[in-house]
Amino acid sequence: MMEILYNSTRSKGNPVKASEAILKGLSEDGGLFVPERIPALDKTLEELSEMTYGQVAYEVMKLYLTDFTQQELLDCIAKAYDEKFDTEEIAPMVEADGAYYLELFHGATIAFKDMALSILPHLLTTSAKKNQVKNEIVILTATSGDTGKAALAGFADVEGTRIIVFYPKNGVSPIQEKQMVTQKGKNTYVVGIHGNFDDAQTGVKQIFGDRELAAYMDEKGFQFSSANSINIGRLVPQIVYYVYAYVKLLKEERIQNGEKINVVVPTGNFGNILAAFYAKQMGLPIDKLICASNENKVLYDFFRTGTYDKNREFVLTTSPSMDILISSNLERLIYRIAGNDPDKNKELMSALTQGGIYTITDEMKAQLVDFYGNYASEEETSTKIHDLYDSTGYVIDTHTAVASCVYDKYLKETGDDKPAVIASTASPYKFTRSVMNAIDHKYDSMGDFELVDRLSEISKVEIPKAIEEIRTAPVVHNQVCEKNEMKKTVMEFLGI
Ligand SMILES: *Cc1c(COP(=O)(O)O)cnc(C)c1O
Repeated sequence: MMEILYNSTRSKGNPVKASEAILKGLSEDGGLFVPERIPALDKTLEELSEMTYGQVAYEVMKLYLTDFTQQELLDCIAKAYDEKFDTEEIAPMVEADGAYYLELFHGATIAFKDMALSILPHLLTTSAKKNQVKNEIVILTATSGDTGKAALAGFADVEGTRIIVFYPKNGVSPIQEKQMVTQKGKNTYVVGIHGNFDDAQTGVKQIFGDRELAAYMDEKGFQFSSANSINIGRLVPQIVYYVYAYVKLLKEERIQNGEKINVVVPTGNFGNILAAFYAKQMGLPIDKLICASNENKVLYDFFRTGTYDKNREFVLTTSPSMDILISSNLERLIYRIAGNDPDKNKELMSALTQGGIYTITDEMKAQLVDFYGNYASEEETSTKIHDLYDSTGYVIDTHTAVASCVYDKYLKETGDDKPAVIASTASPYKFTRSVMNAIDHKYDSMGDFELVDRLSEISKVEIPKAIEEIRTAPVVHNQVCEKNEMKKTVMEFLGI
C-alpha cells in the first residue's frame, strides 16, 4: 500500500505520518494536517456492499492511516464500534418523505460526534505507543455541546490521558450541559466559560500554539492533543459512514451501481461535510454536497459570494452545535482550492484572524461547484420538525431539521431529485425541549424529563440509555471561568 503523509495547510516541508498527525492534532505552525493526496477506494462498491460497518471502516481507514498495522487498526475498530451503539448497524438509515435520513446518533452520547470519538481515543493511544510517547496526553477540547460529551465519554479513564473540555456556559442545551457536568472518570474536567463557542475554540487554539507552555508541559510530563474535528483522527472515521450509506442503498437496490446521490449535511465546523467531500474524491458517486447552516449563515454567504466574513452578530439558535462563525475545517478546503498552496492559504487565514474576513479568487471559487449552500431560519426549522412529524410520524432533531429545510430549498431551486442522504446528526432526545415545542406548544410548560417521556410516547422510540443515565446522575463538575482564564484553568487542573 502507498504510504500517505500529512502536510500542514500553512507551511511546506516536514510531512508527518498519520500517527504523528493524530498525536499533534494541530501542526506547530497553526495549520491543519491534510493528506498529501486523497486515496481512491480499492474495493468495488459491490464488494463494500457486502460488508459490515466495521469492515467498511477498515477498508476506508487503512487507506489514510498507512503507518498503522492491520492488527492495530482492526483492534481500534473493534473497540470503537461495539455495544456502545444501540444498533448493530451502527449507522441505520430511515426513509421519510422521499429522503434518506442517515442516523448517526446511535452511540454513547446520541450525537454524530460518537462516530469518530468512539475510535479517536484508541487511535491516539495506539499512536502514542507507536511513537514511544512517555508523556501523559492531555486532550483539550472546545465544544459547542456535542463534541465535549462525546470526547469525555470516549476518553474517560483511558490510561495515559486526561481530558479538559471548555463549553460556552449559556450556549448549550440543558440536556447537553447535564450530560457533561455529570461525566464520571478521574481524568475528566469540564469548565463552562463566559463566552461563546468561538471564544472557547480561539482560547484552545491559543493554548495549543503556546510554545513556552508546551515546553513547560513537556518538562512536567504532559503534552496536548486535540479531540476537535481539526484532528485527522476525527476526520478519517467520518468518511466511513458516507461510503457505508451509499453501499447500503446499493445493497437494498434503492440505487444502481454508480448512480450519483446528493448528500445534505447540517454544518458548523465543516468537519462532517468535509468528510463527505473526501468520500467523493475517493471515488464515491456523490454529486452535490449540500451545506446547511442555521441563522449563523457565514458559510451560505461564503458559497454565494466567495467572501468569508465572521463580522456579524453571533445568533444563539435551537441548533447550538451549529452556532459557529469560524468553521475551522474550511481551511482544509481553502488550502485545496488554492492548489495546495500553503502560502496563499496562510495569507487568507491571517486575514481571518486579523480582520475576520477574506475573499477567495475567482479561480478558487470556480472549484466550489460541488457545493451548494443555504440556510434555515429558526421558524423554518421548527416548522419542518412539526410538518415531518405530522405527515410521517418521524421525529428529527433541530440540527437535522436545518438540513432537511435546506434540502427542500435545494429541490425547489434546482429540481435535482437524485436520491438524497441527509446526515441526521443528533437524536431528538438531545434537544427535547426545542423539538417538542416545535411539535406542539402545549408542551412548553413541562419539565425537561417529562418532555423526554412525552417524546417517547409520540415517537414510539425508546428512551436512549444516555438520557436515562443523566436523569438522576449527580453534578460533579461546576467550574466556570472567564474566556481569558482558560490557560490558567488548564494549569491548575494539571497541578503545574
Ligand atoms: C457538531 C454537530 C454538527 C456540525 O458538524 P460539523 O462537523 O462541526 O460541521 C451538526 N449537528 C450536530 C448535532 C452536531 O453535534
